[in-house]
Amino acid sequence: MSLANLELAQDHWRGVFSWTELSRRGFSQAQVARMVRGGDLHLLRRGWYATGYAHPLVVQAVSAGGVCSCVTALDLHGIWVVARGNRAHVRARKAAHNAGGRRFCKQFSGPEPEIYPLDDIPTALRHALRCLDAEGIVAACDSILNQDLLDMADLVATFATAPLDIRDLLELCDGRAQSGTESIVRLRFRAMGLRFDIQVKIVGLGHVDFLIGDRLIVEIDSIEFHDKSPEQREADRLRDEIAHRLGYIPLRMSYNRVMFEWKDAAETITDLVRRREHLKALAGPRELVAEIDAAVDGDPDVDDTPNGDDEGDIGGDEYWDDPDFEGC
Ligand SMILES: [Zn+2]
Repeated sequence: MSLANLELAQDHWRGVFSWTELSRRGFSQAQVARMVRGGDLHLLRRGWYATGYAHPLVVQAVSAGGVCSCVTALDLHGIWVVARGNRAHVRARKAAHNAGGRRFCKQFSGPEPEIYPLDDIPTALRHALRCLDAEGIVAACDSILNQDLLDMADLVATFATAPLDIRDLLELCDGRAQSGTESIVRLRFRAMGLRFDIQVKIVGLGHVDFLIGDRLIVEIDSIEFHDKSPEQREADRLRDEIAHRLGYIPLRMSYNRVMFEWKDAAETITDLVRRREHLKALAGPRELVAEIDAAVDGDPDVDDTPNGDDEGDIGGDEYWDDPDFEGC
């Protein structure tokens, strides 16, 4: 076994290895001591070593006396979690908890042995249940389901030791969410008592994140406006223009808007709903829908009603005859 082969072992190790693992891979104590002296391995604490390519958060966690877990491990596994800063979340074995000193993340059952320096998803999630709030838990689970990393039965098993109010959060999870911000907005819309659907396909426009009532579209921007390329901004403008032509009201919300300015964003939605703008008849003669559909999708011959049904709810007559229609 060479150091080069160790570098291929990413997954749960991320460049940090226990003596048990090094021994299992064929290293002798003398070889390990030689690599430490030569600078190829760095002793983090008794029985744990880091290579030069080790992930800094995993190094930080193991150096702190435990292993990388909770929201930090979920993040490293590619799962959406609410931003938690640069400090690693660390869980530890029972002896480390008993030693006092550093505060470790806990799960609803007792501490477990340390096997890998980076926890697997179920173990990390069990610990995150005590570090995240309800929105954060649902957003992380949505992300896990969306990427098929675990299924709902796995999540139910993972939540088994949690109190009832946390287990009940599983009923709010939805793997269709494309981002954690979208998950959080969905929960807030639900709490506001809004009638909405998610990931709705609108002919001529494609999928939108939220459709409130019949025509209020809310899109969650994963990229802040100032970080978007000129092409992305132009694409957004075109998409909004098409939505207006079809009679919809498009709104965009960024992560910052949702997380730090929600009160104002929610008031905008509430004002529109209070004026019943979200229920007014959809504008747009059938020919216009087909024209836009052809321009955007190149496939105008499928159902040409905006919400993918055949109810004819955007007939030209409705558009011109609707006394409530005030233009876009
Ligand atoms: Zn934690």
